[in-house]
Amino acid sequence: MKKTKEIFVTQPSLPPLEEFTEYLKQIWGSKILTNNGPFHKQFENELADYLGVKYLSLFANGTLALVSALQALRVTGEVITTPFSFVATTHSLWWNNIKPVFVDIEPDYFTLAPEKIEAAITPQTTAILPVHVYGNPCKIDEIQKIADTYGLKVIYDAAHAFGVRINGNSILNFGDLSILSFHATKVFNTIEGGAIICHDEKTKKQIDHLKNFGFAGETTVIAPGINAKMNELQAAYGLLQLKYIEEYISKRKEIAELYRRELTGVKGIRLLHDIKGVDHSYTYFPVFIDEKLYDESRDALYERLKKNNIYGRRYFYPLISQFPTYRGLPSAKPGNLLIANSIAEQVICLPIYPDLDKMTIKRILNILINK
Ligand SMILES: *Cc1c(COP(=O)(O)O)cnc(C)c1O
Repeated sequence: MKKTKEIFVTQPSLPPLEEFTEYLKQIWGSKILTNNGPFHKQFENELADYLGVKYLSLFANGTLALVSALQALRVTGEVITTPFSFVATTHSLWWNNIKPVFVDIEPDYFTLAPEKIEAAITPQTTAILPVHVYGNPCKIDEIQKIADTYGLKVIYDAAHAFGVRINGNSILNFGDLSILSFHATKVFNTIEGGAIICHDEKTKKQIDHLKNFGFAGETTVIAPGINAKMNELQAAYGLLQLKYIEEYISKRKEIAELYRRELTGVKGIRLLHDIKGVDHSYTYFPVFIDEKLYDESRDALYERLKKNNIYGRRYFYPLISQFPTYRGLPSAKPGNLLIANSIAEQVICLPIYPDLDKMTIKRILNILINK
């Protein structure tokens, strides 16, 4: 058999090296490497403008942003969250000594099911931590209504939702705080990186202190903060990425459209479609396999793709609630998470990234369609 190139679920896009070298020369000249330097300041402003948000704080990564967001709002006790996400969502609770309470997902776009939240609230509940999974917006109005009724905070894990807008308004403008990840595997990367989005200057200041050990001045430490700062090299790299992000997203959109065109109507394969009024950024391209109709199990397809050097990923299988740390929790019982369990058994994310060529996409489609 002819050897084909290994194709992974994603591949990062990098800005032109010559442009980055110019920025590196400036950093070598200034010798300012971190601690809110000029590139950090510029990137923070330009990124907030691009996203259409007022207050944004850059972080070293999305996980530290999540951990710090919970600290900033002094969230304690129990937090209601989804098991259908990347482990960092729940780990951020664990690192804050908060008990995660898993609630099932809704059947259309697999975000936290609002109608199941109330039954999970106890006197210890202080917040809700939903995820805009695959970049599809959570049911924000319904979640906010419950939060208002019970006096809960809402922190959105928006790691998949860079650039997502609803009727022109950034998805990041909802809830008390949102967090982003700029990890190499995400739509927008700064190698590693992340951010917290908040809605007032006072909260931003608090967050900026927390990511710098709690320092509010040369000799004032207001809280047990952490070191979660983004450095100047990554901020400069991020500034360059911003120049190309529209191009990255439109190439992803083309690929998603091609997949959809060819896979629509294939028996046993379910797709997610764009939502009216939403600008998507095509972070992932999940397909859901109905074993009976497709006449092959999800895992058999996953292995068959692998044999052809196509490395899809089963995001999110296993569910977070199935990992040893969390599986003993009462809310982790499979009976409590029926939809999440079933979707986790069906999903494969297909490769999608700006440099994925048409020939490879055709090859992937051929494996899916002609078994
Ligand atoms: C990637 C990701 C994170 C973690 O972000 P890092 O920048 O890798 O720390 C958190 N939540 C979700 C949903 C993610 O996909």
